[in-house]
Amino acid sequence: MAHIAIVGAGMAGLSALQLLKEHGHQVTVFDKSRGSGGRLATKKVGDASWDMGAQFMRSHNGAFTKALHQWQKEGWIQHWNFQPHVINADGIHESPDDVERYVGVSRMTALSRKLLECADQFHASTRITECRRHGESWQLEDDMGNNFGDFDGLIINTPPLQAQPLLQQIAPELAAQCDVDLMPTFTLLLAFDQGLSNDQANDVKGAFVKHPIVDWISQNSSKPERDQNLTTWVVHANHDWARTHTESPRDHVQQLMLDAFFEVMQSDAIVPTESWLHRWLYAIVDQPLHKGSLVDQQQQLAVCGDWVDQGAVEGAWLSGQQAAQQFINN
Ligand SMILES: Cc1cc2nc3c(=O)[nH]c(=O)nc-3n(C[C@H](O)[C@H](O)[C@H](O)COP(=O)(O)OP(=O)(O)OC[C@H]3O[C@@H](n4cnc5c(N)ncnc54)[C@H](O)[C@@H]3O)c2cc1C
Repeated sequence: MAHIAIVGAGMAGLSALQLLKEHGHQVTVFDKSRGSGGRLATKKVGDASWDMGAQFMRSHNGAFTKALHQWQKEGWIQHWNFQPHVINADGIHESPDDVERYVGVSRMTALSRKLLECADQFHASTRITECRRHGESWQLEDDMGNNFGDFDGLIINTPPLQAQPLLQQIAPELAAQCDVDLMPTFTLLLAFDQGLSNDQANDVKGAFVKHPIVDWISQNSSKPERDQNLTTWVVHANHDWARTHTESPRDHVQQLMLDAFFEVMQSDAIVPTESWLHRWLYAIVDQPLHKGSLVDQQQQLAVCGDWVDQGAVEGAWLSGQQAAQQFINN
């Protein structure tokens, strides 16, 4: 049995954790946030809550499909049964497809919490700033000067910008591969105690939007096991628009997105009961490396994340499996 440290409790790190535990390893997980999930994020304001990051999971891969079915059996996720809409200059249209979409219940982060349960230790609110190799083992240091170790192996599951400084001294050839762009976006979260004035818009559960400001709208309260007291909406900004507004005043961005929401939904403006704007500087990987995971076998080091393999929750999960595999093969 080896003791492995995982830096980052996003889907990739949690996927690695599952596989390492199945093979009897001891695993300690670190995340700079208060909880797990990374971009599988949930936000709560007053009586309203929303999935703020990933909206749903889908699979193109047999292994990930198997994992989704297992999580469904455990009751951690459910099928989100809806027919998507497309909204463009011609209006709001149904756009049926046969994609199986799944969501964590009763929120996306509920899944990450379940996946994290098998960790031997979880250090939340712990930002790792340095990884050092001493002989055959790894030691980690956080931004408060606390030291952790010794670990036999290390998996880094952070976005590329955070992975690069961690890798610079210990594995410069891996650090050189961290030059991967994650596109920004904004997420506007809205909650209403009444429906929109356009009945057709109230039927929208998830819509792919062609608009200069907005590119996705979902009715969060239409997902399984969500609170039905308020109607909650998630609005994601178009990446090109977001890129030109990352430094704009928050209130200004929020107002522009709110106006765009009513325009796209062809509804009269009403005052939300709750609302929240989140700025994602690093949201969606533009051109992932398609490398599974990055590995330095001699140092017992692996790097994983959606950006290393392919985009989306599925890509992150696959990358985590690849990263863990190298400690199992040894
Ligand atoms: C707005 C938005 C909408 C999306 N919609 C979808 C969707 O509908 N479907 C889909 O499949 N995907 C979607 N995605 C993409 C999906 O969320 C990601 O591909 C996936 O969650 C990435 O997982 P990850 O493990 O690679 O990285 P992350 O989730 O980013 O995890 C990295 C973790 O590392 C931690 N960390 C970083 N630096 C340190 C450090 N120094 N020390 C300790 N911890 C650190 C972070 O806190 C984080 O928890 C969306 C993403 C966003 C932002």
